[in-house]
Amino acid sequence: MVDISMRLKFSRYRVDREPHIRVNYANCRTCKQRACLTACPAQCYLPRQEDGVVFNYEACLECGTCYIVCDRGALAWEYPKGGYGVSFRFA
Ligand code: SF4
Ligand code: SF4
Repeated sequence: MVDISMRLKFSRYRVDREPHIRVNYANCRTCKQRACLTACPAQCYLPRQEDGVVFNYEACLECGTCYIVCDRGALAWEYPKGGYGVSFRFA
């Protein structure tokens, strides 16, 4: 089994103040599956106790998985602007 945390420690992030993924939280509040919670390899989505999720884009790996698994159309997804986002494999 691959330890993803070991691999992520070689990643670097340049975070834009403008999020590159926007969540329509109204859709999340009635989402039973909340597939984003288990699908995101960076754990950018965390459960709210009562319903829905909280999202933090800063550690996003730009894999697009959340956009694919969200079946409620809650996400507006794009890559970060040029120069921002994740860079991989920095030792
Ligand atoms: S799967 Fe989509 S609608 Fe459901 S909680 Fe996650 S982002 Fe929100
Ligand atoms: S694009 Fe990938 S890493 Fe970024 S929030 Fe979605 S699932 Fe997580």
